[in-house]
Parts: sequence; C-alpha cells; structure tokens
Amino acid sequence: MVLSHGDLTEKTIVLAHRGQLEILVAIKTGIQAFLHPTVSLSQASLIEIFLYKRCRNIACGNQIPADNCMCVICSKFDFEVNTCRWIGCDVCSHWTHTDCAIHNAQIGNGGSLGEMVFRCRACMRTSELFGWVKDVFHHCAPLWDREALVRELEYVSRIFQGSEEVRGRKLYWKCGELVEKLKTGVAEPVASKAILSFFQEFDIDPRKHEESGGVMAPQEEFNRIADVVQESIKKMEMVEEEKVRMTKKARLALEACDQELKDKAREVAALKMERQKKKQQVEELE
Ligand SMILES: [Zn+2]
Ligand SMILES: [Zn+2]
Ligand SMILES: [Zn+2]
Repeated sequence: MVLSHGDLTEKTIVLAHRGQLEILVAIKTGIQAFLHPTVSLSQASLIEIFLYKRCRNIACGNQIPADNCMCVICSKFDFEVNTCRWIGCDVCSHWTHTDCAIHNAQIGNGGSLGEMVFRCRACMRTSELFGWVKDVFHHCAPLWDREALVRELEYVSRIFQGSEEVRGRKLYWKCGELVEKLKTGVAEPVASKAILSFFQEFDIDPRKHEESGGVMAPQEEFNRIADVVQESIKKMEMVEEEKVRMTKKARLALEACDQELKDKAREVAALKMERQKKKQQVEELE
C-alpha cells in the first residue's frame, strides 16, 4: 500500500506527524520496533529513513551511502549489540556476522604469529580476533544472562575451532569446558569469572604463553597422546601374551592326550595278542 503510493515524496511526507511517520516507516522497513514506545527518533530521522537517506537499523542510524552496519556477506542486520555475533573490521569498520565469516572462510590462521584473524570482505584487510573477543567479554560478560553466556562461549568456540596457535587453542578448549560446566549446572558468575581470569593470565605475561607455551603445549600434548598409545599397546601385548600362554598350555594338554591315546592303543594291542595266545593254549589243551 505505502510502497505503491507515488505521492509520498519528500514534499508530502514532511506534512505527516510523528505517529503517522512511525507507522509509515515501520510498514516500509518491515521493522515493528519503530512503533515501540522506547524507540523515539526525531521526525527528521524518520523522514530520512523513509526516503532511504538514513540506515533503517535503529542501532546504526548512519547516513546512506556512508553506512556500513549491515553484514558485508549476507547484507542483513539485527539489533544485537554487546556480542561476538558480529565482527567489526579494525580497518574499515564494516560489520560481518561471525557465522557468515566462518561459513565463507573469512576466519583463519593468518596473523604474523599464526594467530586467528578475520579477513574483511569489504577491504580485504585482516583484524586480530583474540584481543577483540577478550574486549567483548571484558565489557559485556557481566551483562549476559546464562543463555547469553553459553551462546557467546559457543561463538568463540566456533571462531577458534581451527586455531593452530596455542593461545587460540587454549581459548577454544576453555570455552568448550565452560559450556559443558554451564550445562551441568555451574553458576554463570563462576563461568564468567573463569573466562575473564583466563584472559587476564595472558595480560599479565603474554610472552610466557607465546614462547614457552607455543613450544611446550604441543609437545605436552604429543607426550600425553604418546603415553595413552603406549599404555594401550602394553595392554594389548599383555592380552596377546596371555593368549599365547594359554594356547601353548592347551597344545601341550592335547599332545599329552594324543600320547596317552597311543599308549592305550599299544596296551590294547598287547592285550589282544595275550588273549590270542591264551585262546590258542586253551584249544591245544582241549
Ligand atoms: Zn546502518
Ligand atoms: Zn551475515
Ligand atoms: Zn574492512
């Protein structure tokens, strides 16, 4: 209805009062939030949104075309703030959905130290992710409820899943561990504190983790795996040895039986001959 009205131009729209404008903008953008009592934009802003001169994302409100609030990949937006759901480019400030970035391989081990980075599709430059996640958690974790905390930890998990660098790997493990704990009933302030102190550790001595951690952690991991493998081999060898021992015992028993059978057969033959002899003697005497 509204969209087909050719007479709703800049000249006529200024005559509408605010209530009417809010309705017109809500219908045109499909965003009901414009009608919400807590959302109150100026008449001028509403007019600009209606005329596509201002971004319809209430949280953004930038002038178009300088606007960059929509996902660079899927061109959608939402009103989520204080979250790892969106990644902002450090260079051009364009935004991308974390999941869109993951699905389009825009996140990977690309930093100078092999750390996880986000590659912005708008400017093709990279932004570091560990520090960004740390900042988001530092500022927003106290505001999140249980559900939000689980969701944010899962975002971080997905972001750092492919990390080959030790710091990112550790973060990935930590998030997985905390999600499990939250699911089994650990209180969210405990989990929240745990992740913040995890980040704090890197603040105190980041080099410690880069140098010793960078070299040692994979080695430790290898050693741990090697131990497990060795233990399994030992168990398998023990089972194998036991089997060999039992087979040997059974074979010996079988051989003993065979021998006994032969002996008995020889005895039977001897007895038969004896009997034959006795029989002959009897016949001769008769
Ligand atoms: Zn915008
Ligand atoms: Zn997107
Ligand atoms: Zn960019």
